[in-house]
Amino acid sequence: DWLDVCGDRTVVRAEPQSFCAGVERAIEVVERAIAIHGAPVYVRRQIVHNTHVVADLERRGAVFVHELDEVPEGAVAVLAAHGVAPSVRVQAAERHLQVIDATCPLVAKVHQEVRRFTGAGRTVFLIGHAGHEEVVGTTGEAPDHVVLVESTADARRVEVPDPERVSYVMQTTLSVEEAEEIAAILRERFPALQAPRRDDICYATSNRQQAIREVAAVTDLILVVGSPNSSNSLRLAEVARAAGTRAHLIEDASALELRWLRGARRIGISAGASAPPSLVTELINALAALGDLQVTQAGGVTETMQFTLPREVV
Ligand code: SF4
Repeated sequence: DWLDVCGDRTVVRAEPQSFCAGVERAIEVVERAIAIHGAPVYVRRQIVHNTHVVADLERRGAVFVHELDEVPEGAVAVLAAHGVAPSVRVQAAERHLQVIDATCPLVAKVHQEVRRFTGAGRTVFLIGHAGHEEVVGTTGEAPDHVVLVESTADARRVEVPDPERVSYVMQTTLSVEEAEEIAAILRERFPALQAPRRDDICYATSNRQQAIREVAAVTDLILVVGSPNSSNSLRLAEVARAAGTRAHLIEDASALELRWLRGARRIGISAGASAPPSLVTELINALAALGDLQVTQAGGVTETMQFTLPREVV
């Protein structure tokens, strides 16, 4: 019923939301590479998991490829924010590519941990989702010594050659609560389990989840802007649902379905770390077309993280 869809509403923005420091850096790397070397600049995989970001950079002269064998010998190739297995760097060297690495420093940190642990002869449990590019890259550091643990069920049945020499690391964009549950089971089963020095789930992931939980407590519906292959965006919608609120992940305002708005007077909005803030503005404008909108916010951690750029583009 149209009348249920129209009406006055409150929008509660989750803060922080949208771009994190690693995504801003990765996008800037591609922009600068194009400015320095001219188009085309090749980028292996989606620079960040967002359709709009990729389309925008394509318009500016980036050419996205799946593997480096699609890049002409000697050309400039940017490696995406999710990180790569060492074998990809070998391939780049063989093709004499000018590599610019946009791997987020917080992903690179997890790679370092895997190298340190496996270098000391330990087996590493990688808590994460099979097939995600970050997991493929992290596993690639030591494929024979990294064991993927995707769920609490996996954690209960996983076996290792030497239970005295085990460590764990995590994908950076997991649900904090779920990952903790999995780690707790591993800790119980393997008392000698070594943890990373600092949490692997990154500041941006945990801040956005914390904020959306606060928003979920005061809203009837949550819209998360992000692409369906964006791990941290998917987790935001899940965290909202786990907190008891209906939630939908949408690519942009055009994916908004009016039937979702029935009975929803207070709508929470967040966006994944790879989703541009302009998409949120467009979504709020679309909602404003349906009736008076009051916009407030919840959450409130202020993020100050900044990363330096790779020297190739400075
Ligand atoms: Fe880096 Fe975290 Fe952003 Fe991923 S979500 S790019 S790990 S800051």
